Amino acid sequence: MSDPYYIKGMPENIGEDHVVKAQAMDGFVKAVAIRSTGLVRQCQKYHDTSPSVTAAVGRFMTGSLLISENMKGDTDTQTTIIRCTGPVGGMTCVCDSSFGCRAYPLNNRIDDGGLVNVKAAVGTGSLSVIRDIGLREPYSGQVELQTGGIGEDFTYYLMASEQTPSVMALGVLIEDGEVKEAGGLMVQLMPGYSEKEISYIEKRASGFPDVTYFLDEGFSPAQIIDLFLGDPELQYLEASPAGFRCTCSKERMEAGLVTLGKADLAELASDKNGIDTECKFCNTKYHFTPDDLARLLKT
Ligand SMILES: [Zn+2]
Repeated sequence: MSDPYYIKGMPENIGEDHVVKAQAMDGFVKAVAIRSTGLVRQCQKYHDTSPSVTAAVGRFMTGSLLISENMKGDTDTQTTIIRCTGPVGGMTCVCDSSFGCRAYPLNNRIDDGGLVNVKAAVGTGSLSVIRDIGLREPYSGQVELQTGGIGEDFTYYLMASEQTPSVMALGVLIEDGEVKEAGGLMVQLMPGYSEKEISYIEKRASGFPDVTYFLDEGFSPAQIIDLFLGDPELQYLEASPAGFRCTCSKERMEAGLVTLGKADLAELASDKNGIDTECKFCNTKYHFTPDDLARLLKT
């Protein structure tokens, strides 16, 4: 018997992080759902984040991946940045065009009194989205944070900057300091939608339980889309694995050092111990000997 929830591109083990896209209501409604548990755990491990920061950066990565779903080119990238007044200080996330992402918070541990509170960790500020899809100028948009809860902030961004009415739910379920589940759902109205689709989606969204509740109960992203939309004409479009992926390498670090300029490089090269650099996304360390630096000076 064929599995109605099998979608081309799914990972073999559907318990692994992945994204599912679907459409419904004659194509006027698009839905994208993600399980991001593994990549949020990876981020927590790399940055040793305290619970509120884990939840904040986890929601931020999940929402960033959801809004990156349109990128097509192999080298397309999307950078999302939150600058904020709350104790987390800010967060940066970079997504590639195949649902790989990397992220870091400015402050990894904050005193939250043992309570997970994303809005308090983030506070007020702005959300910026920069998409480099190979055009001469990258696309960029920025909005003020609405609540600091991240989901509402992305929803507002999508409406204000991309003129796409959307509903977005993001969740990171933390138990005993560990990430139990993380995921998100984005439902959007496509051009040509009418009052009918608006009121239908509003009705479905009201009282819809947290995405992590469903993930924790064993539902997959495809099933969550089905539960949300409840449309017999629902059509799954594609699926793709997702994950924490860093692109750092010694060569990339070198390129960064070269941009410092000759004077600064010469000063670094004068240290007989060489220097250690660290990737801020995954904390991988790269050592440069004085010889390495002298070679860079000549480039
Ligand atoms: Zn890295």
